[in-house]
Amino acid sequence: MKKNFYELSFSELGELTDEQALPKATASMLFNWHYKKNQRALCSHHNLSKSARFFVDQGLNFSLPVIHQVHESADKTVKFLIRLDDEQKVETVLIPFQGKYTICLSSQVGCAMNCSFCHTGRQGFQRHLMTNEIVGQFLLAQEWLSTHRPDDDRILNIVYMGQGEPLHNFDAVKKSVEIFLSQHGTSLGEAKITISTSGFLPGIERWKNEMPNVNLALSLHSAFNEKRNELIPINRRFPLEKVMEFVENIPQGKNRFITYEYLLIKDFNDGFEDAQALGQLLQGKKAYINLIPFNPFPGSHYGRPAFEKVMEFKCWLEKFQVPITVRTTKGDEIMAACGQLNTSI
Ligand code: SAH
Ligand code: SF4
Repeated sequence: MKKNFYELSFSELGELTDEQALPKATASMLFNWHYKKNQRALCSHHNLSKSARFFVDQGLNFSLPVIHQVHESADKTVKFLIRLDDEQKVETVLIPFQGKYTICLSSQVGCAMNCSFCHTGRQGFQRHLMTNEIVGQFLLAQEWLSTHRPDDDRILNIVYMGQGEPLHNFDAVKKSVEIFLSQHGTSLGEAKITISTSGFLPGIERWKNEMPNVNLALSLHSAFNEKRNELIPINRRFPLEKVMEFVENIPQGKNRFITYEYLLIKDFNDGFEDAQALGQLLQGKKAYINLIPFNPFPGSHYGRPAFEKVMEFKCWLEKFQVPITVRTTKGDEIMAACGQLNTSI
């Protein structure tokens, strides 16, 4: 059986080429060709030995998911609907920032966490994505950019904030991160990759041991357990204080912060006491707060606070001296903003 090239980390590919006694440079040439140069055709590098060509031809397949649909919004956000081998679909979003892009990757078809404010959560859990389906999202989006926007085609950051709970699909996500980091391939820095979690503690524990230098964002949304239980049902299994205690005890490098995402929902968690509790929880920690005004979707029963309300909330928080940003909504006219991704409709 042929192995899918895009399922292999650089070291796994190296083991395979060693087993076949191929020249040492084979793995790096293949990574360079398919990841750095983003080529789909078989590697035609003139230095690739005859035996290596035979191995590529007989031992590997290079299948990737395909782009099913593309939606572009006026603010240059691009949403891709990606079709997988079994006809399931996931979404990938390119978010523009000063002529460059952040890519928002999906890690599962649907999501098992069932958060009450999330369109993906409403979809239920279908399955985990495989590594090739995760790195494939990046490669397809990169290829599309190079073709359609050759003047600004650089993807500088990766966020695992699309559909799914990335730490619930740890192995495939971890391998995709290893591939993105490989110096022979896309060669991204660890600081350029952020994994967002709803607080799935078993996954956070593995993150700490296995890829602690990749940024972590914790979806907090309320400093009160009762409210968080309503928003994120797994908070009942892994309550806030347990998750916080664990996260806080992770040694952080000098300039490293944990990002805390705080979804602002009108008349639910946008009051003065909510800001106080949030500020007190994060005061003095190596934290960074990202306020996300709720993005509505068909059938959602929550509302989005007015812009002035968001600014007032930010003001209340300022005295706690934790850095804060307000996430500007991009791509909402094409339902590509946070929490609007749903591929079951
Ligand atoms: N499952 C992970 C990552 C995907 S969701 C997580 O929950 O962290 C990415 C971010 O979008 C999370 O912070 C999530 O809380 C937020 N989000 C989900 N639904 C949203 C909505 N309707 N409006 C705004 N943000 C939303
Ligand atoms: Fe899953 Fe994140 Fe949506 Fe919750 S917010 S349902 S964890 S994708």
